[in-house]
Amino acid sequence: MIKDKLERQFEYLRISVTDKCNFRCIYCMPKEIFGSKHQFLKKNELLTYEEIIEVAKTLKPFGLKKIRLTGGEPLLRKNIEYLVEGLKKDALIDEVMITTNGSLLTKEKLISLKKGGLDSVTISLDASSKKVRNIMNPVNSNHVLVSEAIDNVITIFNSVKVNMVVIKGINDKEIMPMLEKFLDKNIELRFIEYMDVGESNNWSLDNVFTSKETKDLIEKYFSLKKIPDLIDSTSEKWAIDNYTLNIAFISSISKPFCSECNRGRLSANGNFYTCLFSEKPYDFSSYFRNKENNLSFNNYFTKVWSNRDDQYSQLRFVSKPGKNKNKKNKVEMSYIGG
Ligand code: SAM
Ligand code: SF4
Ligand code: SF4
Repeated sequence: MIKDKLERQFEYLRISVTDKCNFRCIYCMPKEIFGSKHQFLKKNELLTYEEIIEVAKTLKPFGLKKIRLTGGEPLLRKNIEYLVEGLKKDALIDEVMITTNGSLLTKEKLISLKKGGLDSVTISLDASSKKVRNIMNPVNSNHVLVSEAIDNVITIFNSVKVNMVVIKGINDKEIMPMLEKFLDKNIELRFIEYMDVGESNNWSLDNVFTSKETKDLIEKYFSLKKIPDLIDSTSEKWAIDNYTLNIAFISSISKPFCSECNRGRLSANGNFYTCLFSEKPYDFSSYFRNKENNLSFNNYFTKVWSNRDDQYSQLRFVSKPGKNKNKKNKVEMSYIGG
């Protein structure tokens, strides 16, 4: 067990297994920027499954309990069920989860992921109407497969989380249709405030549809009952009277949760970040891949985590003296892992 400068324990690792994606969501990988000229990581730069399992094994004694596989689109990596199996059965990680856009999540894939020991699935879907979905993701928007995947996850895993990023004036009118679509299903529909992650999505506070605005809208039609928060939960959950669907709000902009943040992030090429908004990579691959570093990894990681003082979301609107606002160096979500 290890704590950072703000007394936060390390427990959770989000791993981007690839920075590539077959979608181009406007808030994450806008097609104008992530076009044919964009340089993605090369295949030989990606950590292998064996290396990722080794990282997990090494971090377990520090308190690592949960891993989320993400990206980019994690299902673009072949046979990811082998990685899941290694994390569960070899590295003995308590909970292994995946976040995916669902477009490649066939029933067969789900069955092998379940067999490998995967604990739960989160699927991203930002609108019910085809027209708005195509605005949110103008490339490869075969969303019929995504809806099928949501139903298949419920059949195989009993329940599913669905992530919806809400952007003011673009898909906020889809909040009620999305809710109505899923009312009778075993789903947690999570409304995510649009975040200023990376440098390419042209984020502005004016485009944020806050959790309060979403909740006020829903309460015009439905009665909500609070579900008690889990200790390290980053969302507030509510049940809807008389329906199976639960909803959750992830309010990184209006109600940041940095004081509870127990997570680190690992990029597909082995850079560790102590915060989604951190600009400082810690090169794990030199320990796990090149083995060129003589310092012990345990000493190194102890230093990295115990010096951690990130609380970007909490300080987002406090201007930092000496910080050059024109300097663009925030890391993209698809690289660091959403
Ligand atoms: N491709 C997978 C997917 O879309 O589920 C996994 C990676 S994606 C980066 C992980 C999550 O981050 C998705 O639910 C996505 O909606 C969310 N996300 C990406 N950019 C975001 C932003 N700017 N603000 C809020 N959430 C964002
Ligand atoms: Fe791809 Fe997920 Fe980013 Fe959309 S949110 S572009 S699906 S990585
Ligand atoms: Fe954690 Fe950084 Fe997000 Fe705060 S801003 S919750 S420290 S990842």
